[in-house]
Amino acid sequence: MELRTKLLVGGDWVDGADRFADVNPATEETLAQVHEAGPDQVDAAVRSAREALPAWRDLDPHARSVLLWRLADLLEERAAELAVVETLDNGKPSFESAKVDLPSVVENFRYYAGWADKLGGETIPVSGPFLNYTLRQPVGVVGAIIPWNFPLSMAAWKVAPALACGNAVILKPAEQTPLTALLLGELALEAGFPAGVLNVIPGRGPVTGQALVEHPGVDKISFTGSVETGKLIMREAAATVKNVTLELGGKSPNVVFADADLDAAARGATTGIFYGKGEVCAAGSRLYVERSVKDAFMEKLLERTAKMVPGDPTHPKTRLGALVSKEQRDKVLSYIEAGREEGATLRAGGEAASVDGRGYFVEATVFDDVDIGMKIAREEIFGPVVAVLEFDGIEDAIRQANQTIYGLAAGVWTRDVGKAHRFAREVQAGTVWVNTYNRYDSASPFGGVKQSGFGRDLGRYALEQYTETKSVWVALDG
Ligand code: ADP
Ligand code: MG
Repeated sequence: MELRTKLLVGGDWVDGADRFADVNPATEETLAQVHEAGPDQVDAAVRSAREALPAWRDLDPHARSVLLWRLADLLEERAAELAVVETLDNGKPSFESAKVDLPSVVENFRYYAGWADKLGGETIPVSGPFLNYTLRQPVGVVGAIIPWNFPLSMAAWKVAPALACGNAVILKPAEQTPLTALLLGELALEAGFPAGVLNVIPGRGPVTGQALVEHPGVDKISFTGSVETGKLIMREAAATVKNVTLELGGKSPNVVFADADLDAAARGATTGIFYGKGEVCAAGSRLYVERSVKDAFMEKLLERTAKMVPGDPTHPKTRLGALVSKEQRDKVLSYIEAGREEGATLRAGGEAASVDGRGYFVEATVFDDVDIGMKIAREEIFGPVVAVLEFDGIEDAIRQANQTIYGLAAGVWTRDVGKAHRFAREVQAGTVWVNTYNRYDSASPFGGVKQSGFGRDLGRYALEQYTETKSVWVALDG
C-alpha cells in the first residue's frame, strides 16, 4: 500500500493547515510529512460526520455488519504490509506488529461485525397501563483520540464498536504514529463505508485533538492516553457536557508469591514489562516478590532480562524495539537517573542504546531495592524499566499492590487457588491476570479504576460506551 499523508474527510483526501514530520524512531529518518488538521479541517470532518450520520444510523444493522466484516477481510489481506508500516512508525518489533497486533485488529472488526445486528433494548415491567421499552441508539458523532503505543489496535478498539453501534467516527491518531490509521481509513473506503462515516485527521494534541474535544458537533470523546491529557480532556469536554470515556495510564503491580512456579513467573514478569518496550498502559512495572524467594527469583529474572537486547525492529528475531520518539527516550532516561539518585540498586540495563549508531533505544532495565516512596515506583515511566519491591504474605501483597493512584491492571503468580482469587477480588484494577500477563481478547473488557480512567473498551461492555438508552412509554388504555 502507498502511504497516505493527507486527511480523510468526507471520503476525500484533503490538505491540512500544516504538516509535521513523522519519524522512524529506530533510524531517526523522516518517514513522511503528514498533514495536520487545523480547526477548519476539524470542523469539516465534524460536518461530514454529522451529514453521514442519519443514513448510517438508519441503515439495516445486517448491512453494517457486512461492511465491518469486509473491512476485516481487507485488513487481513493487507496485514503484512500494515505490520511493516506499524513497525516503521512506532519502532516496535515486527514480531509484535505481525504476530500480535494485526491478527487482533482483524479479530476485533469481526467481533464487532457480529454485534452490529444484536443491539436490542428490553421491555420493562412498570406500574399502570403502560408498555415501557428501551431503544439502544448510537451516541452520534464520536471523536476517538488514541495514543502511539498500539496505533492500529487502539484505532480498532474504538472504531469497530463505534461503527457497529451506528455512530459516525472522527479518528485522531497520535502525531508520532499516524500512518496505519490513515490506511485504515483507506481500507474503510475500499470496503464501501459511506463517505463521512469514518474520518481520519492526524495532528498534534493541542491543535487537532483539542479542536475535536471543543467542537459542539461532537457528541462523545473516547480517549486513550496519559493521565495528564485525560484530565485536560475531561475538563475541556465539560464545556459542552460531552460523554467521555478515558483509558489512562497505570503502574500495575505484578505479584509473585513464594509458592508460584518461579520460572513461569519470571517469564511473565519479563514480558509483562518489556513487551512493547514497556510502552504499554498495563505494563507490570511494579514487580512485587515475596521475600523468601526473592534471591532465587531475581536470578531467573536477570537471566531472562539479559536476553532482551535492543535490536532492529524490522528483524523477525528482535524482541526489544526502539522507543517511539526522542522525547520518550529522554523521559525514560530521566526516570532511570531518578532511580539511581533515589538509591535504588540497578541490576540490569540503565543506558540508552542504538542499532547501527542510530535510534531511540533503551536497555531492558531492572531496579532492585525499590521503596514505594521513590519516583520510579510511583510514576508511570512508559518504558522498559521495572521496579522490584518485596512483600510478606497476602495481606501485605494486597496492601502494597493498592498503594498507587492508578488501577488499570494487576498480575498475580501463585499455585494457591484461594490466594489467587482473593487477590483478584481485592486488588484495585480493571483487569487481573492470574499466572499469566498481558492477555487480551476482543470479547474481554479492558479499562481502569481510580486515576486509570473509567469506561471499558472491548467486549459487549464497549457497546455501552457507544450507545444511549432511550426509555419509551406507551399508554395502553387510550
Ligand atoms: P503522550 O504525552 O505520551 O504523547 P498523550 O496522552 O498526550 O500522550 O497523547 C495521547 C493522544 O492525546 C494523542 O493522540 C495526542 O495527540 C492527544 N492529545 C494530546 N494533548 C491533547 C489535548 N490537549 N487535547 C486533545 N488531545 C490531546
Ligand atoms: Mg512515527
